[in-house]
Amino acid sequence: MGTSIVKAFGTESPTVDLKQMNIQRRDVTATDIEIEILYCGVCHSDLHTARNDWGGTVYPAVPGHEIVGKITKVGSAVTKLKVGDFAAVGCLVDSCQECESCKQDLEQYCINGFVGTYNGKDKHSGMQTFGGYSEKVVVDEHFVLKVPSNLDLAATAPLLCAGITTWSPLRHWKVGKGSKVAVVGLGGLGHMAIKLAKGLGAEVTLFSRTQSKEKDALELGADAVIISTDQRHMDSVKGKFDLIIDTVPYVHDVNPYVATLNISGTLVLVGYLGGLEPILNTVPMILGRKSVAGSLIGGIAETQEMLDFCGEHNIVSEIEVIKIQDINTAYERMLKSDVRYRFVIDMASLKNA
Ligand code: NAP
Ligand code: ZN
Repeated sequence: MGTSIVKAFGTESPTVDLKQMNIQRRDVTATDIEIEILYCGVCHSDLHTARNDWGGTVYPAVPGHEIVGKITKVGSAVTKLKVGDFAAVGCLVDSCQECESCKQDLEQYCINGFVGTYNGKDKHSGMQTFGGYSEKVVVDEHFVLKVPSNLDLAATAPLLCAGITTWSPLRHWKVGKGSKVAVVGLGGLGHMAIKLAKGLGAEVTLFSRTQSKEKDALELGADAVIISTDQRHMDSVKGKFDLIIDTVPYVHDVNPYVATLNISGTLVLVGYLGGLEPILNTVPMILGRKSVAGSLIGGIAETQEMLDFCGEHNIVSEIEVIKIQDINTAYERMLKSDVRYRFVIDMASLKNA
């Protein structure tokens, strides 16, 4: 299969900075779309992958799974979009499309394993997949999303991961008017969770570690902010929430949040991957029929549903646009929770480098 060389930004090991490099992209097949990448959001998962926090990163690694761009080429059988259209790609670029999960539009839970936009294995070429910190990407049309025409393109990019990752649990747990939702952590995912839950009609509370983000949270639409390090403040919302979306990236104590769930309420972890410490106390769960659950991004149909909802409600991410050359500083700032609230790379900075 033919390939072409594309400029990208990636890393050779967990301990060195990201730098400019060349990668190979497959040529378009009959069902593929080639997209010139205009903007790419910076997700905390990009950092986890670059630094091998989860193990399993294959180097060189090129992160980026919040991709928005313009279509430059389509295969002969493509019907979904055409050359010149704006389009988006999220965290998935392939799946078996045959298993029970795929048949139910749950490609993210593909029983045979989905192909990630980066650090996956391209089924067509057998090569490693490289993400959106690059000039262009080639993706099967099924995994390409349509972008609502009224939304700012750069601010739309984070919807492709931060948006869908919080939208999917909101929809699965049927959040609507009258629901009481809480969000743990005001970062990329957290700020989208507030906007989307609000858009669905819920009453929304933010749990944050300090008061420094309170004003922003209220401006983003939160009805209240609870400082998670203040026990009296935590006690004031005991037994309150139907759904809590926990976006914290690192191991942390979830027991104080379980105490704030209503009877039959659910705390869904979307941030941290791994064993919980301190251990999860089942007593309040059993006594209150409470659940602690997890959720992974969202399927393609659900991602399109979220994008269309955002188009109708004028919802986009709060962004700070950066050049690709500033990505290493952006990672350091992300580690300090100093992001308001998503970095988005203007990919013209790579093209012109
Ligand atoms: P982010 O922008 O860095 O936001 C994370 C927020 O969590 C911070 O702003 C901070 O909020 C809080 N936080 C950070 N460190 C903490 C700590 N040690 N203890 C308590 N709170 C802490 O990250 P993101 O891009 O939103 O991603 C969040 C996590 O979700 C990452 O681990 C990422 O890999 C994961 N993720 C999962 C999925 C999925 O499908 N499940 C998809 C995308 C991303 P405050 O300052 O307000 O406390
Ligand atoms: Zn992500």
